[in-house]
Amino acid sequence: MKIICIGRNYAEHAKELNNPVPKEPLFFCKPDSAIIQKGKPFFYPEFTKDIHFECEIIVRINKLGKHINQKFAHKYFDEVALGLDLTARDLQQECKTKGLPWEKAKAFDGSAPMGEFISLSENNLDVNNLSFELKKNNETVQVGNTNQMIFSVAQIIEHVSKFFTLKIGDLIYTGTPEGVGPIAIDDEFEGFIEGKSSLKVPIR
Ligand code: MG
Repeated sequence: MKIICIGRNYAEHAKELNNPVPKEPLFFCKPDSAIIQKGKPFFYPEFTKDIHFECEIIVRINKLGKHINQKFAHKYFDEVALGLDLTARDLQQECKTKGLPWEKAKAFDGSAPMGEFISLSENNLDVNNLSFELKKNNETVQVGNTNQMIFSVAQIIEHVSKFFTLKIGDLIYTGTPEGVGPIAIDDEFEGFIEGKSSLKVPIR
């Protein structure tokens, strides 16, 4: 399986990092070794001093497809979860400045913690109107709704599937709203979808 992450998909977040709003979805990948599940801790690595949290809705692909038209994109997923796209901001800045790939800054071990997946159909949820929230040490740091995304899940699937065959189990991180910030050892993160606790990430 692969993890595809969309960057700069919320205008206010693009602004807070002084990035332009993209004309087409910007994406990068993480390997499966980035995954952390079931509330297991993330261990702060030694190669960076500035890891940021980015809280994002994740969509899980449940059908094989390539060149998917956005009109039919809804047939290719039913489950969502909340995750963190952990980013070594210091390394990312260096990569950006030198025009190098981002993997070192984005795709390291444990850089993709995620919570339990929930069914949209069974819970009567609309992927285009999902509210979510991230708390750091019990204080709200990010609040978002997928209705604020620049590119909808359907548009993302159409775009990404031009380049990659989407396979069952592939995950798409759909981008983060404003409010990203640093993580530190002993921080406790908790995320909510539609007010329901659905992600826990202790930093150790
Ligand atoms: Mg992100």
